[in-house]
Amino acid sequence: MIIFSGGTGTPKLLNGLREVIPEEEITVVVNTAEDIWLSGNLITPDIDTVLYLLSGRLDTTRWWGVKDDTYRTHEVMKTLGHNEFMMLGDLDRATHIMRSDLIRSGMTLTEAITQLCRSFGVKAKVLPMSNDPVSSMISTPEGKMHFQDFWVGKHGEPDVLEICQEGIENASISPAVLEALENEDEVLIGPSNPITSIGPIIELPGMRDILKNKKVIAVSPIIGTEPVSGPATKLMAARGIEVSSTGVASYYSDFLEHMVLDKRDTADEKRFTDLACDVSRTDTLMKSVSVSSNLSRHILEQFRIM
Ligand code: GDP
Repeated sequence: MIIFSGGTGTPKLLNGLREVIPEEEITVVVNTAEDIWLSGNLITPDIDTVLYLLSGRLDTTRWWGVKDDTYRTHEVMKTLGHNEFMMLGDLDRATHIMRSDLIRSGMTLTEAITQLCRSFGVKAKVLPMSNDPVSSMISTPEGKMHFQDFWVGKHGEPDVLEICQEGIENASISPAVLEALENEDEVLIGPSNPITSIGPIIELPGMRDILKNKKVIAVSPIIGTEPVSGPATKLMAARGIEVSSTGVASYYSDFLEHMVLDKRDTADEKRFTDLACDVSRTDTLMKSVSVSSNLSRHILEQFRIM
């Protein structure tokens, strides 16, 4: 199965999915539009969360970074006057140094991540959506800034006027992702931010057309009436997308066949009929691995009856 992922909601789902299907059978296509060069290294936050999760290193209290990490390098650099706006842990930084070195030696991002998967003993295929740089840029009254400057540097506080994915028109779906999509019929869109996590993947030129020929199920990132974490509310509103599961489904509507809603979702199911999208409900609030694996079983069952 292929699963499209950001860095929080979908990794929570992967945590259960790997309990119900062999990890070797999972291909994770990961958003790279939040990647940024910082202190000399390329940071790929969503990919790293997936790598750390699948290698048992993830700090699952925060859903980012390495568990039990220390911040000595970050602190020393601060005393020397180099104030990184992202908190990079010492163990985490080792990954950034390795990846950047591999890229500087001539590898594509895909090749570098494949090498890291091997080093970490990750059995799933973890594929960056593209080898070309794409950046989510947020226009605010304070100016246009990279997503990380907005979300980490400014704590998501500025009003959002507009959001765009810089570089997307000229970016290609990576050859490894194209190959995976040629060989797989089932695509799962995880409960990730539709604008900054899933948006960049599906807006890659040609991706929506490929998905029209696949069985596509999405898990809604909405619980009740709201996303559970992150800036999705502000970003969806700025894109003119209704902040609801119906809004998310309408953004995916040209290829989406089924949406899994949380049992608490207040969406009117009749509105999904207009989008030619079936719906089902279950508990999707993944507070534990058992909720994630039950949700995964539910998804597999939906794929079976499609
Ligand atoms: P990011 O890359 O860190 O922004 O993370 P993602 O885009 O992967 O995840 C953020 C989205 O995940 C938010 O829109 C949340 O609503 C959604 N999310 C987080 N945890 C859960 C959960 O347990 N259940 C569901 N259904 N959605 C979740």
